[in-house]
Amino acid sequence: MDIKFIEREVLKEKPADENHLGFGKYMTDYMFVMDWTKGQGWHDARIEPNAPILLDPACVTLHYAQETFEGLKAYRTEDDRILLFRPDMNAKRMINSNARLCMPAFPEEDFIEAVEALVKVEKDWIPHSKDTSLYIRPFMFSDEAALGVHMASSYKFIIITCPVGAYYPTGLDPVKIMVEDELVRAVKGGTGFTKCGGNYAGSILGQVKAEKEGYTQVLWLDGENRKYVEEVGTMNIMFKIGGEIITAPISEGTVLPGVTRDSMIRLLRDWGYTVREERLAVDDLMKAGHDGTLEEVFGTGTAAVISPVGELKYKDDVVVINDMKTGELTQKLYDTLTGIQWGRLEDKFGWTVEVK
Ligand SMILES: *Cc1c(COP(=O)(O)O)cnc(C)c1O
Repeated sequence: MDIKFIEREVLKEKPADENHLGFGKYMTDYMFVMDWTKGQGWHDARIEPNAPILLDPACVTLHYAQETFEGLKAYRTEDDRILLFRPDMNAKRMINSNARLCMPAFPEEDFIEAVEALVKVEKDWIPHSKDTSLYIRPFMFSDEAALGVHMASSYKFIIITCPVGAYYPTGLDPVKIMVEDELVRAVKGGTGFTKCGGNYAGSILGQVKAEKEGYTQVLWLDGENRKYVEEVGTMNIMFKIGGEIITAPISEGTVLPGVTRDSMIRLLRDWGYTVREERLAVDDLMKAGHDGTLEEVFGTGTAAVISPVGELKYKDDVVVINDMKTGELTQKLYDTLTGIQWGRLEDKFGWTVEVK
C-alpha cells in the first residue's frame, strides 16, 4: 500500500504528566485516512494531521449509524521496543462487523500495515511509565450525503491514536456490577457480535440506571429470555465456579468476540483449567454466589485487560464475591497477559508483533 505523508506545520505539545493521561483525552499529531468509493474501492491512503473533519449534515452515518470501530494498543517495552498485541484479530473482527453492516471490508494486511505505519510516525507519543500505552482506534463510517436508508457509495477508514494512562495505578480494584433485567443489548440475528457504534448508543441507558444505584457497570442478559448472562459494558465476563471457568459462547452471535477473552481462554486451557463456553443462567450464578461455589468473577477487554468483580446485584439479590478482593486466578491472568503485552514475559503463543 502506498501511504502519502502530509506533514503538520506545528506539532502538538505532549502531555507532561504520564500519571494523569486518563483514557482518550489527548489525540496525537496524525491520523491515517483512506477513502472508499463505489466502483473504485479503497484509495488515497495517507497519514495526515489529526484535525476536525467536515461532514455534510445529511451524512448517512449521523442519521443511521453506519459506523464500526476497533480498539487495540501499542506497548513500549523496557528495552524500548514497540509491540502490538494480536492486531490480526482486530482486522478480522472489523471485516466481520462490516459484513453485517453492508460496509466494505478493509483487507487484513492493509489494516496491519496502516496501524504499524501510524504507530511508527507517532512512536514518541507512546508513554514510558509502567502500564501506560498508546491506544489505537481504527473506525469506518459512510460520509455519503443522502437521507435514504441504503448501502452507501462512499466510506472513510480512519485510525486515530492517543496515549492512555495505567488503568490500575494502585493495583487491581474490584467493581460492583448490576444485572440489567429489563433493557437488552443484543438479540440473535442482530448486531451483538459487531463493534458498531449503534450497539453502544443503546446501552447507555442501562449504564445510567446502574450508576444511579451505585454500580459501575451493567451485566447484560440474553435478549430473548433475559435469563442467561452475556457480557458487561465493553467487556466479556468469566466466572470461576467450583474450580471451572465458564463464559458465554460467541456462537450465538450476541456476544462480542473479545481478543482478550480469546487470549484468557487459551492461557487458562494451557494451565490445565476447564473452560466452558456455555450459557449460564443468572439464577444459577446467584445460587453459586450464595452456596460458596462462585470463587471469582472478572471482565476482560483491551482497555482494562481484566476487571475483577466484587459484587453482583440481580433484582433484590446481592452476592459479594471473594470478600470484594481480587481473586488469585484473576491476578495471575492479569500478570501473565500484561507481562506478554509489555514484553516482560515469554510470548510462547506468538501473539505480539514488533513495530520496526
Ligand atoms: C471491545 C469489546 C469487548 C472486548 O473486546 P477486546 O477485543 O478484548 O477488547 C467486549 N465486549 C464488548 C461489547 C466490546 O465492545
